[in-house]
Amino acid sequence: MGRGQDRLEYEEKRKELVNQIKEEGIGKQVLEAMGKVPRHLFVSKDIKDSAYIDSPLPIGNRQTISAPHMVAIMCDVLKIEEGMKILEIGTGSGYNAAVMAEIVGKKGHIYSLERIPSLKQFAESNLKKAGYTNVTVIEADGTLGYSPQAPYERMCVTSAAPSIPRPLKEQLSAGGIMVIPVGKYMQNLILVHKLDDGTFSEENLGGVIFVPLIGKYGYRESI
Ligand code: SAM
Repeated sequence: MGRGQDRLEYEEKRKELVNQIKEEGIGKQVLEAMGKVPRHLFVSKDIKDSAYIDSPLPIGNRQTISAPHMVAIMCDVLKIEEGMKILEIGTGSGYNAAVMAEIVGKKGHIYSLERIPSLKQFAESNLKKAGYTNVTVIEADGTLGYSPQAPYERMCVTSAAPSIPRPLKEQLSAGGIMVIPVGKYMQNLILVHKLDDGTFSEENLGGVIFVPLIGKYGYRESI
């Protein structure tokens, strides 16, 4: 199959996926962004043809690219706006970062932290192929946040923590929003608002399944 035909086929599959996700009540802005990001460039060649199935897929090192509907839900509840500065914990393939990068546009920026060096490289190469220049991937323990660029208007944590890491709460702007899965076997997606007086409100959005957040304020490597 020629490259043009290949691209058209993926475009069709991506449209179908976005239509499916629309049923979940996801906002227009997130749907439009997901309609643009080529998910097939964020998985290895051998599973490219499964890229537009609404399912998590393996990306090596026992990690996964999250299911598209989960990326959609997390981006939607964050109410991301153009020009925002966002911190992501758990870059993985770079796909979620790319969706957020589409929404913040050239005036905004995504700082994304990944603890596994080979995945940091994988994500960087995927983001380059897909043409995203407003994402910086940093190899680091994301439970510590990333103080050089703090505070952040939004935070998206894509692995499950034992509790909300204190450094992340500190590095969230007043008026900022964070979404984070919390729990070990039974996990819940928690939406955190930092209020103007520096206090926090938390809302439980329901049960989810994520790989563990491993680090100083996360789980130990061995779980
Ligand atoms: N957002 C990713 C994507 O779009 O492909 C999916 C992320 S995957 C479900 C979770 C990622 O979190 C893995 O790549 C894992 O290595 C990473 N991770 C786990 N603990 C971490 C930590 N303390 N700091 C940074 N990354 C971490």
